[in-house]
Amino acid sequence: ALGHLLMDIQLYLADKPDVGEAALVGELRYGGGGSASNFAVAARRLGLASAIITSVGFDGFGRVLLEELMREGVDISRVKIVIGQQTGTSFLLVYPSGDVKVFEYVGASEAVEPKDLSDAAFKGFDHLHITMYRLDTAVHAARLAKKLGLSVSVDPGRIWSARGLDYLRELLAEADYLLLNESEFRALLRGDVGEAFGLGIDMVIVKRGPQGATAYLRSGEIFEAWGFKVEAVDTTGAGDAFDAAFLAALLEGRGVDYALRFANAAGALKTTRKGARSSPTREEVEKFLATRNI
Ligand code: ADP
Repeated sequence: ALGHLLMDIQLYLADKPDVGEAALVGELRYGGGGSASNFAVAARRLGLASAIITSVGFDGFGRVLLEELMREGVDISRVKIVIGQQTGTSFLLVYPSGDVKVFEYVGASEAVEPKDLSDAAFKGFDHLHITMYRLDTAVHAARLAKKLGLSVSVDPGRIWSARGLDYLRELLAEADYLLLNESEFRALLRGDVGEAFGLGIDMVIVKRGPQGATAYLRSGEIFEAWGFKVEAVDTTGAGDAFDAAFLAALLEGRGVDYALRFANAAGALKTTRKGARSSPTREEVEKFLATRNI
């Protein structure tokens, strides 16, 4: 995966509606974050090999983040260490409903330049997943990956989606799968999947929170899967867990119907736990699916 590696600092607000956010009461936690890194961890938990392309500062946060990824079994040999810039940080306010407000400080995490990436970075892998990063590097990585026969997915996230289709055109022209949540779908494609197919994308997947997800195929086929009912406490990283599970299932040759169900289960399970990296193992997803036969 290519994208951010950030230190997440989360404040879980206590359930006191009449006191309000200003009181900032609750639980404070920190841990690894950044969409692409969450994705790489989620893929590992599902039993796949994964690597991260990103950068961190030469500092304490950077070291903790790399140690965490190593413990998860994510290949960190492509991570660039930047001297003189601080590791990126994300501040997250988590509401009792599980909804999250994010304030991101990118810091050292966008230091990978196109010249840092050659064919060697992609050898041995079948797929490249890209989340918001500096665009020149993202386009270069996507082109190299395609040339080497990898499939490519893009989850642009809120900020990239807000910039609009023209900004991302070059990148999306290299992508096979485009993954968005509902507001990103409106912001980037104005709700029109045809725009994406026009750029050569094969499948657009729209994540709809508790309502599950929809996959629109270039062929005109549409697959829909309802979400699972769970007690959500923290939706941070649910989209990343969903993406990893969806693509893992497809890469293993499963049908789109199954991939959506598998991904909804992974996303739903993630929301029941705190932190961006609390995505489930394959065993947990399969056990969950066996008990929810819808
Ligand atoms: P993102 O996290 O990218 O904004 P969503 O909020 O749509 O995207 O969440 C991604 C996926 O996680 C959803 O498609 C769904 O499968 C699962 N999910 C998220 N929130 C919930 C929830 N409250 N209950 C059940 N599943 C959820």
